[in-house]
Amino acid sequence: MDFGYNIIKIKTVDLDRIDKSLYNRVVFVAPDINKCIACGSCSASCSVSFYNSNSSFRKALVAIERDDITGIKESLSSCVLCGKCSLVCPRGINTRGVIIAIKDLLKEEAL
Ligand code: SF4
Ligand code: SF4
Repeated sequence: MDFGYNIIKIKTVDLDRIDKSLYNRVVFVAPDINKCIACGSCSASCSVSFYNSNSSFRKALVAIERDDITGIKESLSSCVLCGKCSLVCPRGINTRGVIIAIKDLLKEEAL
């Protein structure tokens, strides 16, 4: 097909083949992420994302579900841990605490 939308091969996610071990480890240290409804309020409120569109807690959660370490790092590398995203989460997730837990886990496991 040479018009319209296409699925980019490297962005294709085969949910049956994804390794969920990283996701399970993150859930163990930050069980709150299971409450996320992916509304995007956290990303929309993030001041850093105004300057760096890759900075997004929601994107980081998607990357965790996809076992995408690079994506997690890209989404959280500019975070200044201000906690603004925690204030707007409709599910009451302590997003700042979760970000710290994720960063600690990546550091501990040298990922
Ligand atoms: S604001 Fe809360 S529920 Fe919405 S995407 Fe962010 S963490 Fe998930
Ligand atoms: S804690 Fe990080 S992700 Fe959340 S609003 Fe602040 S800079 Fe953005």
